[in-house]
Amino acid sequence: MKFKKQIKGLNAYQPGKTMDEVKRIFNLDKVIKLASNENPYGASPKVKAYLESADVNYALYPDGYATKLRTAVAKHLKVSENQLLFGNGSDDNILIVSRAILQPGLNTVMASVTFGQYKHNAIVEGAEVREVPLKNGEHDLDKMYDSIDENTGIVWICNPNNPTGTLTPSEKIKVFIEKVPHDVLVVLDEAYIEYITDETYVDSIRLIEKHPNLLIMRTFSKAYGLASFRVGYAIGSEEVISQLEPTREPFNNTVLSQDVAVIGLQDQTFIEECRAKNNAGKKQYETYCTERKLDFYPSHTNFILMEVKTDSDAVFQGLMKRGFIVRSGNALGVPGYLRITIGTEQENTELLQKLDEVL
Ligand code: PMP
Repeated sequence: MKFKKQIKGLNAYQPGKTMDEVKRIFNLDKVIKLASNENPYGASPKVKAYLESADVNYALYPDGYATKLRTAVAKHLKVSENQLLFGNGSDDNILIVSRAILQPGLNTVMASVTFGQYKHNAIVEGAEVREVPLKNGEHDLDKMYDSIDENTGIVWICNPNNPTGTLTPSEKIKVFIEKVPHDVLVVLDEAYIEYITDETYVDSIRLIEKHPNLLIMRTFSKAYGLASFRVGYAIGSEEVISQLEPTREPFNNTVLSQDVAVIGLQDQTFIEECRAKNNAGKKQYETYCTERKLDFYPSHTNFILMEVKTDSDAVFQGLMKRGFIVRSGNALGVPGYLRITIGTEQENTELLQKLDEVL
């Protein structure tokens, strides 16, 4: 049968080769994945200790309100518990927001290039997608503002932006949110916030009080090293959260996911250590690019988008054969570039040696 609802312009998610497949196909003993911006140091050791002794009744559904996690995050961020929405990763929160707000006849504004799920969900909902090119790697907030009209439902700001890693300054976001009509939701996706070291970037949560149409998204998948558990959270005004909450699935975080997220949150020393190591690792790539006159975007995240001056798919394949899975810019809308997750010092050194062989 053919569905009566026709979704045009949507491709099924294309999973890359798994690490096991890459090992088998290229006959490798070891494969390192630096493709999806996970934390190369894993999660806090306290998470591992907990999982080794966890005593969970697997037959029971999880707490559908993620109460313990909610209390912990609320306390950590100094917001009220009903200012939080928990999702099965930020991916789920992007879906929840899109489904609640977008529909045919409405439009949504985002940068190009940016994180693909904003567009993906807009297409599913049948909304018009208005893409505004980045300006010097940054969100062009003036042009994005000009794209808003009375049919705009959501504006997406990915900060720092994926796949460029670039940061739009706080001051510009503040000016933007002050201008945006109050019935347009501005989503600020801060998936990589823990990696920001730029001291001029101020905590955007404080903007919510004055701007109830601002929704901030964060995740345990990146610096917290818990991507496999799928926990993302959104912080917004009670007015916005109370409209989103009834639209989500009832049990969208598992028992173990809720527990490990609380434990991860409590270990801020681990996050600080990862941030420092990430900064050092980033410098390895910056030095490499500078020495070889390859362009790169200034990254405020745990990945770097760098030029390869040749077909990025071929470089991606060349690295894969040598045991490194990265992301080709072709797949991200930035041909001629590679997006590489910053790994451990050793991983970065090895990858860059292989890259020299390929380039
Ligand atoms: N937003 C951005 C900018 C991301 O890069 C990612 C992960 N690639 C997500 C959201 C989704 O993260 P999660 O694992 O929490 O679903």
